[in-house]
Amino acid sequence: MFSSINNLSFVECIFYYKLLPETIVFTSCSYKQHRSNMSKDKKVKYFQVTPGVWGMKLVFVNIFMIANRKGFPKGWVLVDAGIKGSADKIIAMAESIFGKGTQPTAIVLTHGHIDHVGALGELLEHWNVPVYAHELELPYLTGKSAYPPPDPTVGGGVMSLASLMFRREPLDLGSRVKVINMEEGIPELPGWQFIHTPGHAPGHISLFNPFNATLIAGDAFTTTKAESAIYVLNYFKKLSGPPMYFTTDWVAAEDSVKKLAALEPRIAATGHGPVMRGRELTLALNYLASNFEREAMPSGGRYVDHPIIADKEGTKYVPPFGVTHKFKAFALLVGAAAGFMAIRQVQKVLS
Ligand SMILES: [Zn+2]
Ligand SMILES: [Zn+2]
Repeated sequence: MFSSINNLSFVECIFYYKLLPETIVFTSCSYKQHRSNMSKDKKVKYFQVTPGVWGMKLVFVNIFMIANRKGFPKGWVLVDAGIKGSADKIIAMAESIFGKGTQPTAIVLTHGHIDHVGALGELLEHWNVPVYAHELELPYLTGKSAYPPPDPTVGGGVMSLASLMFRREPLDLGSRVKVINMEEGIPELPGWQFIHTPGHAPGHISLFNPFNATLIAGDAFTTTKAESAIYVLNYFKKLSGPPMYFTTDWVAAEDSVKKLAALEPRIAATGHGPVMRGRELTLALNYLASNFEREAMPSGGRYVDHPIIADKEGTKYVPPFGVTHKFKAFALLVGAAAGFMAIRQVQKVLS
């Protein structure tokens, strides 16, 4: 059964996933995923969301490029900046679409979590462009405040555990970061509306183009199970709430999903997961909005009953991590470590 444990096929991964906890299976499946991404380095792979909008998956998170429609000044905008080390891929994608030496007129951030701003520093060395974010996200982008700690006890997947290792310290973009005018949008992206969708992060925004009902939702909701490494790495489709481990205000998160469902998008591109469209999207999004508590909220967790409090200066209050949560987190970590060691032992015996 374990003879090829460090080289599992996609189907095998799923098979084992049914039998074993994700913490164990992920250790094996991740090798394969890493290699396949390495092989794509030379030829960048991206996908079209709708005419004038493209996306690219960077290991487990998406970035998007939006070109202005005909009739508007020429130009394009980058939405989010992916994980650290992906600047080369983002630049290669841009040059493949818009031509060699191209640069965006601006970078828009749906929010400032590390998986959405990881390559920002490298990109800004290459492109001298403004970065736009909601004013409540600015403290996390100007060195003023750190994000609240993640809750690894929610969601039950490897990504929830891995969130403990995500950097929370703020970036300091200084004067390069500008506040989005939520009423008028930004001059670099005419025709697109900006919607404040807090809950996952205080200044989280989504972008909507009423012309073709295209929604870029960031992490306000996702189209995969963001807590599960198996789902995010393999791009399995499932409309879900925001990634649980980083969501710090669940009441606001529910309001945000309802706000986005009311826009009746026909296409949704999210921070994690594949693009969803048409009837499949409408049904799933309406269902999520109507059943948010049951479908999206964890049954317990640090932020479920007590949201964080944040303002323009950053995080003001973080609820304490209760004894039960500490114990649950400890048990999860022990389980993950045991799983990892078990796989290593099997590999040693068979090598
Ligand atoms: Zn996020
Ligand atoms: Zn994310």
